[in-house]
Amino acid sequence: MTRETAGEAGDAREPVVYDLASECTAEDVETETPYLAEINGIVDYGVFVDLTESVSGLVHESVLEGTYRVGDELVVELETVRDNGDLSFEPVDVEEYTLQHVAHDFTLTGTDRLEANVGEQIHVEGEVVQIKQTGGPTIFHVADEYGVVPCAAFQEAGVRAYPAVAVGDVVRVTGVAERREGAIQLEVDGLTALDDEAEREARVRLADALDRRAEPHDVEPLIDWPAFEKLRPGLREVAELLRRTVLQGRPIRVRHHADGDGMCAAVPLQLALERFIADVHEDPEAPRHLIKRLPSKAPFYEMEDATRDLNFALEDRAKHGQQLPLLLMLDNGSTAEDVPSYETLAHYDIPIVAVDHHHPDPEAVEDLLDAHVNPYLHDEDYRITTGMLCVELARMIYPDLTDEIRHVPAVAGLADRSKADAMADYLALAAEEGYDEERLQDVSEALDYAAHWLRYSAGDHLITDLLGIDCEDSHHRNLVSFFAAGAREAVEEQLDAAMAHLEHEDLDNGAHLYRIDVENYAHRFTYPAPGKTTGEIHDRKIAETGDPVITVGYGPDFAVLRSDGVRLDIPEMVAELKAEIPGAGVSGGGHLVVGSIKFVKGKRREVIEALVEKMADADIDEALSSAAPLDD
Ligand code: MN
Repeated sequence: MTRETAGEAGDAREPVVYDLASECTAEDVETETPYLAEINGIVDYGVFVDLTESVSGLVHESVLEGTYRVGDELVVELETVRDNGDLSFEPVDVEEYTLQHVAHDFTLTGTDRLEANVGEQIHVEGEVVQIKQTGGPTIFHVADEYGVVPCAAFQEAGVRAYPAVAVGDVVRVTGVAERREGAIQLEVDGLTALDDEAEREARVRLADALDRRAEPHDVEPLIDWPAFEKLRPGLREVAELLRRTVLQGRPIRVRHHADGDGMCAAVPLQLALERFIADVHEDPEAPRHLIKRLPSKAPFYEMEDATRDLNFALEDRAKHGQQLPLLLMLDNGSTAEDVPSYETLAHYDIPIVAVDHHHPDPEAVEDLLDAHVNPYLHDEDYRITTGMLCVELARMIYPDLTDEIRHVPAVAGLADRSKADAMADYLALAAEEGYDEERLQDVSEALDYAAHWLRYSAGDHLITDLLGIDCEDSHHRNLVSFFAAGAREAVEEQLDAAMAHLEHEDLDNGAHLYRIDVENYAHRFTYPAPGKTTGEIHDRKIAETGDPVITVGYGPDFAVLRSDGVRLDIPEMVAELKAEIPGAGVSGGGHLVVGSIKFVKGKRREVIEALVEKMADADIDEALSSAAPLDD
């Protein structure tokens, strides 16, 4: 309690009477201390007095003399506090006195000390990060320097309490810490938005704490890898941004390429973020509400996905008072094809981060991304897979996860056929965890197969099980064997039909060209889809003939390209075709030597002929023969 003399100093010999500020609580009332009170009710057995808005009590008629009226002032001191918390006072006989103002003691309790204060009335100061109106109370999620606590304020069932308070305001909450369903929330007695000096001070304090807590962990990379070192500062920046996003209570939407590498990237990050969210938020539902992961079927961010994401984000804001999310693009998101979607989101406050290893169009996406990590920006290439990058990123955010994900970079590398020197080290690391190369390969096939059938679903639990995260060993082996066998049988069946229709020609540059009409000579709407079917045919032909080999799988309005030992630049070829064949609607891209092209059906023959000419002109490059990824 803080006491200060109000106005002019009174006569030193006069007794002092204290005047409690209106926000003072029973905690501020001391014994054997005279307080100024006001009579608010008269009953047979005494009078009721108010000391403040929340402090009142009874003065029993046995200690009263004379007559009283409602509104009269009366000096009282505390007599007793009953078990039920009711206070009783007795009058103090003073004629002349000096009045001293008593301000309420707003000693703040950090949200890190809620547990020790259950049942107590405390004060918390922080920023409102979400306001959810339930059928009962309004829940204000308040972030201080330690965490985020839900504060339940009840006006009337389903009616918004404190309607003037908005997300982003800094508030002081007075409330009782209560345990509800295993978690702690504050039952609000009072909630005020701070302004002026108090707000400025609080904001500085909160910002300092945020900077400190957003700092990523310094973790040693799982393996020694000079090429990776170049990407580490960028990953650290992303780790900082993601931790900051969690601390600010902003949701995160993850979109990843729906393949093995994409899932090896997204799942560890999702787990790291979920655990960090659980540490930061008192609300046990927070991890479920604040991070959502979804696959993207195309190797870029389609307008269909972007508009759906945006629509969900706007709905969550309207229904649950959430902030708009940060979009995290994984194994995806670096190319010009992503631009229309990014530009759509740019109309709203939605930061976008991309971690990818597809050949990027930096100048196209630079201004639209808040952070961009891609090995091509550092003279490295696809061999550093997104899964490898994101396992390290996940560890920077939540290092305790390390033991569960040591084998994941090896799966990612095998899934994308990375020929990185570091693969040997990653395989050795996985072997220590009981994953030999065959088992890792099975996991990779199983992920691919599951991703196909999951279509647009994230399949959270199935995917973590297939990845062997938090999954019992023998169950994992059985499950993975089953899925991997299913994948291989499906591939055999597909190729049984397709191989008979393969067309071969020798290109002028000495490369073998294989063409397959995947629309007419492969089963549709099943596994493997055209891209993977083409890839499997390509692999068989390399094994048979040795490179250089180019394989084209085409449908009515698309072609999928695979090549080994030929210096192709697919993004460049797409740009040329676009200019050379007007009215063909050519678009596409991917990696340099692996990718896909779209065109209009009526121009198929022309586009594919021009494409073959370009491939026949391409240089043969032995150095590239071992560098063909296979993830589109
Ligand atoms: Mn990839």
